Amino acid sequence: MVKAPSSKRDVNKPDCLRPDKLAELCTRNFVVINLSMNKIIRNSYIVVLAFVLQCCTYSQSSNNHKLNRMDNNRNNPVYSRNDSSKVNLSNEEWKKILPGDIYEVARGKGTERPWSSPYENSHEIGTYYCAVCGNPLFRSDTKFESGCGWPSFYEPVSKGSIIYDNDNSFGMERTEVMCGRCKSHLGHVFKDGPPPTGLRYCINGVVLDFEKAKAAGRKYDAEKKNPS
Ligand SMILES: [Zn+2]
Repeated sequence: MVKAPSSKRDVNKPDCLRPDKLAELCTRNFVVINLSMNKIIRNSYIVVLAFVLQCCTYSQSSNNHKLNRMDNNRNNPVYSRNDSSKVNLSNEEWKKILPGDIYEVARGKGTERPWSSPYENSHEIGTYYCAVCGNPLFRSDTKFESGCGWPSFYEPVSKGSIIYDNDNSFGMERTEVMCGRCKSHLGHVFKDGPPPTGLRYCINGVVLDFEKAKAAGRKYDAEKKNPS
């Protein structure tokens, strides 16, 4: 007997094209795709979790940095926001008191990396003090966004809060600004600032300490009630 050509074709059809095999293949592929999707979603969760943990770690290290800075202030015998008497210490003595990053800028006349200070884009209301001695330097209402990469102000708290010197280093003619109380290097002043002064005090954030206005106000009231 001669078999019908159609049934011969069915018999010779590859396994993967047979309806029952196709159904099985589809189910298997669906399971594989489903498993892959689960894997992708699980990996996404891991990536998101890692990102969140990294943010927490950054925040933690930033907070630790602040805490260390506060500890430093407590261990710094000349740090005071009330005492305006001049401070004259040798660099050897400063080295024992100050953390390395502050010492490098304040006493070594170094410059921090641009856009590295959290104060550069800060809009909080309050007062900026010298991180070396606690002398009030700038108020937040004189701060402006210069785009230069360092915290910028157009006017110091008072004439005496800052002292000036010519700086001809690196083949440039600049005016260096230093703390009026402890003579620590803060940064430079340029004549391209906004009104009313037309000045731009370009300051290294690492040598600044900030206190929010409300906290400063509460502290002032407490001291007024209980003068020490
Ligand atoms: Zn100072």
